Amino acid sequence: MQRGMNFRLKNRHSVILMSRQPNAPYQDQISDDGSVLIYEGHDTPNAANVRNPKALDQPEYLPSGNLTENGKFHRAAQQHKMGSKHPDIVQVYEKIKKGIWSDNGYFHLIDSWQESDGVRKVFKFKLVAVSNVSSDDLFEDAQETESKRSRIIPSDIKFEVFKRDRGRCVECGATDELHFDHIIPYSKGGTSLKVENVQLLCARHNLSKSDKIQ
Ligand SMILES: [Zn+2]
Repeated sequence: MQRGMNFRLKNRHSVILMSRQPNAPYQDQISDDGSVLIYEGHDTPNAANVRNPKALDQPEYLPSGNLTENGKFHRAAQQHKMGSKHPDIVQVYEKIKKGIWSDNGYFHLIDSWQESDGVRKVFKFKLVAVSNVSSDDLFEDAQETESKRSRIIPSDIKFEVFKRDRGRCVECGATDELHFDHIIPYSKGGTSLKVENVQLLCARHNLSKSDKIQ
């Protein structure tokens, strides 16, 4: 998965990649308990032909007239806000370092707007963590009981797990595209706070595991 924003991947939920690293290209913010994410939209997709994409407003439309990913997420968020549809479900991955991704779980896309970053207009998306969602009712009217549990795995736990699993997928030993995986899924009550409930999986095994659960 390379693109940062993927609207309704395979006609299912959307997937976004976030980063809070100092050199991250976008300003993504997440609350301490991991329940509220303010996600920045993305720059013009033809960045290769553009001298400085950071000087241009983040586009809502492609030159073809079709919506960009910004535009698709924006439309979905506004439709929800106007009360005409359930919020979109978005799975959020966070970049921990190069090739290391953490699954931050499922969020509802509930709002969006454009604001100035001082130079140009950027999109902002507000997402709220979905609690107690089993994958069966992911597209039903999921209960939004906000819990105080954190789906975000703290850095010290990640560090311990990375060390224990020697930076490899526990299934196949792969060393790239690794994800921190809740052994008992967060949605089923699994904790983020114990190294015993967290393991390293490569992208392939992470996906095949979630397929099995679903
Ligand atoms: Zn693997």
